[in-house]
Amino acid sequence: MSNKFDIVIIGSGNGGFGVYAIAAEAGKSIAFVESLDFGGTCPNRGCTPKKVLVAAAQSLETIDNAAVHGIDVGPTKLDWAKLIDRETDMVSGIPAGMQGLAEKRGTVFHGEAKFVGPNSVEVGGTILEADNIVIATDPKPRDLPIPGADLMITSDEVLSERTLPGEVVFIGGGVIAHDGVSIDVDEYLRTPPTRRSGWSATR
Ligand SMILES: Cc1cc2nc3c(=O)[nH]c(=O)nc-3n(C[C@H](O)[C@H](O)[C@H](O)COP(=O)(O)OP(=O)(O)OC[C@H]3O[C@@H](n4cnc5c(N)ncnc54)[C@H](O)[C@@H]3O)c2cc1C
Repeated sequence: MSNKFDIVIIGSGNGGFGVYAIAAEAGKSIAFVESLDFGGTCPNRGCTPKKVLVAAAQSLETIDNAAVHGIDVGPTKLDWAKLIDRETDMVSGIPAGMQGLAEKRGTVFHGEAKFVGPNSVEVGGTILEADNIVIATDPKPRDLPIPGADLMITSDEVLSERTLPGEVVFIGGGVIAHDGVSIDVDEYLRTPPTRRSGWSATR
């Protein structure tokens, strides 16, 4: 079976959808290929679920600071498992919604795209041909070449981990680690703002 399109987009994240929007507007025929969840990292394993956790951390901080306004509240208790359930529930409908959007102007294929020629890719036995093939695949978490690396987890697992860890070590100081620290309510947000001295980094 062969399918010919103006454009094949591999990867349905922000990058792929950016191209899709322009190609759809231009009236091009589009094949949209995704091997995992439609919408990619940002809504499913990144920005959106993270913001649910950040919002909870901010609520805790507001409640913890209520006393300065003369508001007496009892001690707060975070039910981490409940929060993770809320977060996973909130994003659960996203892939279907994003796929529905993609299907408005394109044809959706599920599976891993593999190049089989300069202008053709194969997805689960189906050959897709196009003059333009857009590679909008994600960067994946890298296996670190250090002893014990197999014991570590990445942000993908953190966002579905229902047990709140007692202690957390962040390896890497990029934006995702910074986001993680802002969610780390016990170690950071529960420290009175006046005692937050910024980062304490150990090499
Ligand atoms: C925890 C976390 C928090 C983040 N928070 C923010 C934030 O607050 N703000 C912000 O701007 N950014 C944030 N980001 C970054 C943001 O998620 C990424 O910049 C964005 O998702 C990149 O989009 P993309 O389209 O390049 O890749 P992706 O969204 O990862 O999409 C690529 C897609 O390609 C698919 N794919 C890969 N290989 C193939 C193949 N061979 N065939 C078919 N499909 C394939 C993948 O399954 C994936 O769905 C965050 C990221 C993480 C991990």
